[in-house]
Amino acid sequence: MSTTFIEVAVPLPVTGTFTYSVPEGLEDRAVVGSRVLVPFGRRKVTGFVVAAGVTPSVDDVKDVIEALDVAPVVDPHMIELTKWIADYYLTSWGEVLRATLPPGINMESRRFLRATDEGREALESARRGAGASGGRSDGPELTERRMKLLELVCDRERVSLGHARREAGIPRNNRRDIDALMREGLVEEFEVVHPPKVEGGKQAVVRLAVAGEEALAERESLERRAPKQAEALAALVTAPDHTIPVAELGGSGVSSATVTALVKKGLVERAERASPKLSTGHEGWGLRDEGAMTPEQASALGLVAGKVGAAEFGVVLLHGVTGSGKTRVYSEAVSAALDSGRGAIVLVPEISLTPQMVQRMRKDFGERVAVVHSGLTMTERYDTWRAIREGMFPVVVGPRSAVFSPVPNLGLIVVDEEHEQTYKQGESPRYHARDIAVMRAKLEGAVVVLGTATPSLESYLNAREGKYDLAELPERIDSGPLPEVEVVDMCSEPPVDSEGAFSATLRDAVRETLDANKQIILFLNRRGFASFVQCVSCGHSEKCPNCNVSLTYHSTDSTMRCHYCGISTKAPDKCPACEGMNLRYGAPGTQRVEKAVRELFPDATVERMDVDTTTRHGSHWRILKDFAEGRTDILLGTQMIAKGLDFPGVGLVGVVAADVGLNLPDFRAGERTFQLLTQVAGRTGRGDERGRVVVQSYLPEHYTIALAREQQFGPFFEREISEREGIGLGYPPFSRLVGIVARGRDEDQVREAAARLADFLDKGAEKMGDPRPEVLGPAPAPIGKLRGIHRWQVLVRGRAGTARALVAGALAQRKALKLPSAVTLAVDVDPLDLL
Ligand SMILES: [Zn+2]
Ligand SMILES: [Zn+2]
Repeated sequence: MSTTFIEVAVPLPVTGTFTYSVPEGLEDRAVVGSRVLVPFGRRKVTGFVVAAGVTPSVDDVKDVIEALDVAPVVDPHMIELTKWIADYYLTSWGEVLRATLPPGINMESRRFLRATDEGREALESARRGAGASGGRSDGPELTERRMKLLELVCDRERVSLGHARREAGIPRNNRRDIDALMREGLVEEFEVVHPPKVEGGKQAVVRLAVAGEEALAERESLERRAPKQAEALAALVTAPDHTIPVAELGGSGVSSATVTALVKKGLVERAERASPKLSTGHEGWGLRDEGAMTPEQASALGLVAGKVGAAEFGVVLLHGVTGSGKTRVYSEAVSAALDSGRGAIVLVPEISLTPQMVQRMRKDFGERVAVVHSGLTMTERYDTWRAIREGMFPVVVGPRSAVFSPVPNLGLIVVDEEHEQTYKQGESPRYHARDIAVMRAKLEGAVVVLGTATPSLESYLNAREGKYDLAELPERIDSGPLPEVEVVDMCSEPPVDSEGAFSATLRDAVRETLDANKQIILFLNRRGFASFVQCVSCGHSEKCPNCNVSLTYHSTDSTMRCHYCGISTKAPDKCPACEGMNLRYGAPGTQRVEKAVRELFPDATVERMDVDTTTRHGSHWRILKDFAEGRTDILLGTQMIAKGLDFPGVGLVGVVAADVGLNLPDFRAGERTFQLLTQVAGRTGRGDERGRVVVQSYLPEHYTIALAREQQFGPFFEREISEREGIGLGYPPFSRLVGIVARGRDEDQVREAAARLADFLDKGAEKMGDPRPEVLGPAPAPIGKLRGIHRWQVLVRGRAGTARALVAGALAQRKALKLPSAVTLAVDVDPLDLL
């Protein structure tokens, strides 16, 4: 018999796949879609079989050590999808494959062995035979170890695989003896799948005890004296919710002693975190009865349902103003998919902030819905994955990773709030779930619905060019007209409080709303930690002349830097535009605004909701519920409160500092500010009354603020798209960006490596045809040092795949680059945030 060869993708940061030979006895199980244990360099790794029956291109082919699955765990569509992802995002195929599977898939405690009748008979006869002649001549060979295994299994109803291994002294990942018994039909293997739970357990965590800004300030002062503590603070500031589970501290490079030192200083605390509760406490909150669909809803649904029924690939961009009933269309579309015997995935930006979607799907589809989220334990996630795969849950609701849910016969993927940046994964593999949804639907003949009030420029351009269908819901349903938005020019109306937060107009609006017994939301955009310099006389802030993005202020050496191309200038002491001497550095954070609120409105009840308060005082549900039920007058918060929550009692929304978003060092700053202002304005004016929105800005004439005020998406799109197209090769969607970050402990090494890389890329670009890609940088990353690791970045910008081709070429010749081994490179295709 000739040897079988297979291609294996390994979950390591490598490119390409590797050929192995399959030893006799493993042919049935080392099949495409299953996992195998293979020798890789000096270690053994678990890889994925992605092709079989291949012809090896090298002589020295090693044997597979073990086949790990009884049946394939990855289906052919997913093999194809993950291959595309690996190619597109210039990342490891094996890492992508691993990301599609629940981590608990490796748990052997879920797998059991039991004896068959034949097995029990064989054991009996072996025992009799052993008494008479010391062995058996008829039937299978029972070595001492196999006898021991068989005895164990016959002894009880069932034995977990892990337990059987330990008792019989079989090393992990060696299945030879178990397989032999299974082949003889003496033993069976099976898995126990529990019904998935909604509620998760508790998790020990470490988190910031102070606001993010304060932690960053402390970090700067600790930098020299206590660098470990400074790094731990930086790690916490950048962690989601400023929180790191204790179990992951080691991986973040933070020691327990460092945490203890920071706890003593009152900067950090240890706590328990409850998993997001999804089904209790607020059932039915925000849901109302609906009548017939509007003609616009019906026509949007018709478009989607028609394609689902025909099993035809398509993408529908559902552009609906806030309150226009997009969720109703999603739900009816899921119904249509189920009616034609197909499944659906509903993606939401963040599951704990979108309870209404979960409630809605549960209400409409009951037990057919699985909700996947990070609060589930490993076991629960694995059980849910298995149950979805077996068709128990044809509807799956979850965050970005749910795009990989193994829903059989998939007919529909809904991406709610498609413009949200949480759909992009920040770590390797750095994929964008919206783009994966479109590719997956293409492969499986399904339909994608991209829903939003503020489409991303990429999606809207696709719709305008006819690649996507466009369905619009221009009217609000069961609610008043869109609120009137007043913009306060802070240059002519200086702040009235000690913290520099309130204009007289906003103060008076809050007072009037309180007097009318209505509630108030005050909103701050506190995303990112980049600081900026802005003139309070004319609103001017400096942009990079090459890149058209805001310069970031560095207090340590009083410079302003461009984080795209790396230029650096001395921070001005007077405004370059109007020569005004009054410059401000950044905007007040949530804590200072809270102080201002208490100073101006001592009689009002105030709650602050940001990552700091929500981790400290238990769940944000309590804060939101108190507000929804009228126990709080003023809710103050970051973009957390801008999401799709619905508060009928709100009479005023105030945006304290609209310019923070505009001054981010990011070419998408305008788009994001427009999205946030639109979302925020959508929080008011539900019910019959027209709400009021007050936006404070030093740049009231800026087109982003002026058009967000009118809620004019169309004109904003036209203006923004021409800005993007304007400079050189343009910014996405006209060009593609690829970011490469060099990281290492030695700053000089890292900077030199980044410079060498930029140089290498430049030379490569010169050899390419026009329009050739352009190399920006090297520049220090916005957080130049994190956990002792220095980070410098290079950006490549190009049209029609040239940027990716250039970077792929450079990575393939890594050796020629002669980078020090202590410097690693991280690649981000279509980056949303600078790394
Ligand atoms: Zn000025
Ligand atoms: Zn620049």
